[in-house]
Amino acid sequence: MAQKLKILIAASEVYPYAKTGGLADIAGALPKALKQMGHDIRVIMPKHKVVAQCPLGIRPMGLDVTIPIGETQKMGFLYTSNLNEDIPVYFVGNESYFSRDPIYGTRYGDYSDNAERFIFFCQSVLEVCKSIGFQPDIIHCNDWQTGLVPAYLKTVYADDKFFKNTRTVFSIHNLGYQGNFPSSELKTAGLPFSIFTLEGAEFYNHFSFLKSALVFADLLTTVSPSYAKEIQTKAFGFKMDGVLRARSQDLFGILNGVDYQEWNPETDPAIEKNYDSKNRAGKLACKRKLADLFSLKIEDDTPLFSMVTRLSSQKGIDLVIETLDDLLDEGAAFVVLGSGDSMYEEYFSKLNKQYPDRVGVRIGFDEKLAHQILAGSDFLLMPSQYEPCGLTQMYSLKYGTVPVVRSVGGLADSIVEFNPKTLKGTGFKFKPFTPDHLRRAVLKALSVYRKKDRWQKLTANDMNADFGWDKAAKKYGQLYQSVLKK
Ligand code: ADP
Repeated sequence: MAQKLKILIAASEVYPYAKTGGLADIAGALPKALKQMGHDIRVIMPKHKVVAQCPLGIRPMGLDVTIPIGETQKMGFLYTSNLNEDIPVYFVGNESYFSRDPIYGTRYGDYSDNAERFIFFCQSVLEVCKSIGFQPDIIHCNDWQTGLVPAYLKTVYADDKFFKNTRTVFSIHNLGYQGNFPSSELKTAGLPFSIFTLEGAEFYNHFSFLKSALVFADLLTTVSPSYAKEIQTKAFGFKMDGVLRARSQDLFGILNGVDYQEWNPETDPAIEKNYDSKNRAGKLACKRKLADLFSLKIEDDTPLFSMVTRLSSQKGIDLVIETLDDLLDEGAAFVVLGSGDSMYEEYFSKLNKQYPDRVGVRIGFDEKLAHQILAGSDFLLMPSQYEPCGLTQMYSLKYGTVPVVRSVGGLADSIVEFNPKTLKGTGFKFKPFTPDHLRRAVLKALSVYRKKDRWQKLTANDMNADFGWDKAAKKYGQLYQSVLKK
């Protein structure tokens, strides 16, 4: 076997301790797959308020770290827990920074001290390694909240022997979130002003945590091969495309996997009745339960569409809004679970009042309901403007819930258009970002739904598709090995 590595995964959210989106799922699942490959894998995250509610439990380590913030020093208190029994997770606690709910900000905007909060976390990642005597071969950072770790290693810690052999991998989960702050935050971070250049951390006169990572990390990854290409273009690059093109040799796209321990209708404790591809009876029980939960008045054969999503324009909500009337005219029903942009929250709440029998709306974040929706509906809509990977469509496959998606990023990579002649394929895709193209995809999907034998075949294809983590973890393992030779 390849060399056993010491790997630290740093992320601002890790399931089941804290979750706002797909990042948490990945940061919770990848370590398990890497552990199975024999690596010494650990995880580090902030001790957000919600962490205390996790059934896995956390305990104080009796250790602390002292972190310079501008002219002052702040303390981080360390806690630990075990993911899957044998993976240590470390939490950096600081009441004033992290004892908050929600994690990143309120509906009125991000917390004004987010720069300082994550400057503190990034330095803590390195100080915790020293404090517990863990010399990682790889620190695998994720998204802008961990973006300064590579910058610290290449500057402030450049001569620190403890990290002499440590390399960094940085994963982009969503290029749209960049952590761009006033340049004065460089001082808070204690990073040299010399990195505030076009080739460094400067981004349109701001200090960018994301760009710092794109420049200073030894290797870059993102969460699907298509997204890896897209982000090097102007259309998807969020003005970072030039930086990414400059590093294209070091940028790899690896499609995320699915944690089938968590997302599997055969064993899922959250759903009404378990089922699998051979024994489907449970799916109907789940559909009836879902209709009940949302007080929908539908028949067993009413096509039921769903979304479980952040309510953000990225997710193509505008297209859905423009297509919903047609969908209802076709005799379909619709449920949505989501939170985010108040404009969308209000729209869906109104729609629910207008069509209480046909449209179900739950505003908020509800892990159990997410499982119930994926199990109980017939179709999942994901018409995203852009989609780095997307996990929900891969979860829905396993539950025999057919995805109708825009062919972009990870959606393009994970869903194969169903061909009614060959009976191959797993879902329905469209490309131009217009309501009309979404409508056509929906109509195609409905026509297959109405032909029982085709529908049986399509949903069997979906439930048998395998997106387990093994493949992805193997690729990460290879990349880690390659970066150590740099
Ligand atoms: P993103 O990370 O862009 O939000 P993904 O599809 O990659 O999108 O991952 C979303 C994850 O968050 C999935 O696990 C999905 O079930 C979950 N999720 C999104 N919104 C909600 C919600 N309102 N309630 C519960 N889970 C949600």
